[in-house]
This record gives sequence, structure tokens and C-alpha cells, in this order.
Amino acid sequence: MGFVSKPADFGLGGRRGFAGGFPFSGAADGGDRRIVHFDMDAFFAAVEQRDFPEYAGKPVIVGGLPDKRGVVATCSYEARRYGIRSAMSSARAARLCPAAVFVRPRFEVYRRVSAQIRAIFEQYTGLVEMLSLDEAYLDVSETAADIRAASALAREIKRRVLETTRLTVSAGVACNKFLAKIASDMDKPDGFYVVPARHSEQFAGSLPVGKFHGIGKVTRAKMEKLGIVTGADLRRRPLDELVGLFGSAGYYYYQAARGVDGRAVVAGRPRKSVGSETTFENDLRDAGEIAGEVRRRALEVARILTSRKLSGRTVTLKVKYADFTQITRSRTLDHPLTGLNEMLRLLSGLLQKTEAGARPVRLLGVTVSGLCAPGTPRQAALAFPGMAGTA
Ligand SMILES: [Mg+2]
Repeated sequence: MGFVSKPADFGLGGRRGFAGGFPFSGAADGGDRRIVHFDMDAFFAAVEQRDFPEYAGKPVIVGGLPDKRGVVATCSYEARRYGIRSAMSSARAARLCPAAVFVRPRFEVYRRVSAQIRAIFEQYTGLVEMLSLDEAYLDVSETAADIRAASALAREIKRRVLETTRLTVSAGVACNKFLAKIASDMDKPDGFYVVPARHSEQFAGSLPVGKFHGIGKVTRAKMEKLGIVTGADLRRRPLDELVGLFGSAGYYYYQAARGVDGRAVVAGRPRKSVGSETTFENDLRDAGEIAGEVRRRALEVARILTSRKLSGRTVTLKVKYADFTQITRSRTLDHPLTGLNEMLRLLSGLLQKTEAGARPVRLLGVTVSGLCAPGTPRQAALAFPGMAGTA
């Protein structure tokens, strides 16, 4: 599942109240910016169809193979017609469409294409925030004085991406990130959708709440029970009620329902974490085997940290049991991890706080977050000893 993108972090963890760095800071941030969200269409699958003409027009699934326990990373539009979606198990996808072509991902190619599109974006603004290999926000407020200019610019970028990569990209143009991202999804593939600032509130009101960033299955179900199905329903609830129901996220929902989102486009946002996880072909039951697998994940994370000259303060162990329930256990230090041994020591403590082994394990993952420089230069040289050169 390593290549299934995770929802962006809104910084909503914990109850931190309304003041002090809350990303949705109010109406003052409303309609005075021009933001474009670009999202390549069925990216991995489209690259495979481009490079292997025999896949053109076929249901192509990029990801794990159906006889293993992999998942769908991306599938072509032909495959989507069978109900196949990202993050679905490949086995299920194969049942839905026995004729599907399964292809292993070629990340080095996707990264190359990603660098090409990024280079195009950066010719139009310095404010390019890549969300993943195939998705980016551009703040074009400086170059485009109004929404018409921004739309013309977005169309030009779409054309250049197609010329350069022979792949289509969908674009959404709006006055903030929240609306631009939804807009890019409105008219896929090869989409182009503009939400003028004066329509922001109406547009947000028309959306099912599941479209709102940060509202997953659980929150959606909770809202539906309360009779909140669309943004307009959400807008009818007073702020204190939403905060009472959803904690500080309630403030975000209150703003989003009005089409307001004050988050800035942050160029070259640094990575927030480094992780490695794996889904097993057969559930693991043996404690020794589980510990060995955690160690292998830790080695991989250490290798990446070393190659990027990074360390971090928080170590997280993720365990998914055979019944698909998932837990995480983490530990935060007051100093950057000093090396692999410290990471392994923390992980073995975390592993003991799980039922791994007593319950069969389907997936294990290790993540280091709170990334920072690895202490003093001297410590940096010593960080993750023995790991240098393996990158
Ligand atoms: Mg995409």
C-alpha cells in the first residue's frame, strides 16, 4: 500500500482552539487569491498506456498482482468502469474484471514525468506545492490578476503538459486550495473547471460532505446521522454546535461549508515523515518473524533517512491485523534519533504494546516523523552507522 496517497494533514490533531496558526483563518483570506490545482488523470495507468501501446483502451491496473496480497495503486478509466478503485485489493479487482491487465509500478518513470510537469509549473509561479508525484497546487495570484487570467494560464499549462508528456492533466481554478482541488475532480479526465470567487459559497453548499477534505467514512456517517448530507446542511449548523460535535475540526467544517480556506500554497513543502510498510502474502503469526519484519522496515527507513541526511523525533509502528483492524503505537523523543539502534530499541518497546503474534498480522509499517537534522554535524556523520552507501 506504500503508493496509495494519504490525505493531507490539516494540522487538526488535538484541540488547539481557534487562535494560533489554525490553517483556516477566516474570511479575510477569501476571494483575493487565484489557486490552480492540477491532477494528472489516472497517472500511473496513463503512463503505462502511453509507453505500451498494446495497453491502450484496455482496463489496466497498476499495483500489486491479484495472486499476491497487493492493492490497486491506480487503474485506467477503462478499469474504473468495472467499479475498480485505488486501494482496492488486486484480488477483488481481478474478480470485478477478469480481463484486466495487471502491471507492476515503474516509479522511476513516474518520478521522471513528475519532474517534467513540475518544471512546467515552475515556469509560471514560484509557488508550486507538489502534493504527490502527479498533483500540485499553484498560487498564480502574482501573475494572474483575475480569475480569467488564471483560467487562461491553467489552460496553457494543460496544453504544455500534454505536449511534453503526452498525458492529460485535469485543472481546477478557484480562490483557495479547498475549492481548487474539488474543481479539478469535477470534469475528469482532461478536466477544466473554474469556480469564480462569487460562487464559492454556493459551490461548497452543493457538495456532499464526503467531498470535503478531511471528512472520511466515519465522520461522513456521523454527519449523515445528524442529517448533514451537503455543505449547505453543514452551513446551517452554528459554529459552537460543530465544534461541540467534531472538536477543532468543527471550525474547519464551518469555514469549508462557506467555501473559505485560508491555507497558503507552500512551495517545496518538506516531507513530514519517512516510512516503510509491507503487506504480507500470508499473515504472520510467529513473534520472531514479526520482529524480523519490523527490523527490515526499520532498516529501510534508516536507509532513506541517511540518504536524505535527516533524522526525526517520533517513531511509529503500524500493525494491521488479519481482520483488517489497524493500530499504531508511537513514541516521541526529546532529541533526534541517534541511529538505527535507538530506533530498533524503541520499536521493540512499541511492538510489545501490540497484540502482534497473539493475533495474526497482515501488515507492518514503520514511520519516523518530526523530521529534523540529525543533531550536531558530528552526530550527523555518525547517524545510522553502517547504513551509508546502501542507498
Ligand atoms: Mg491523479
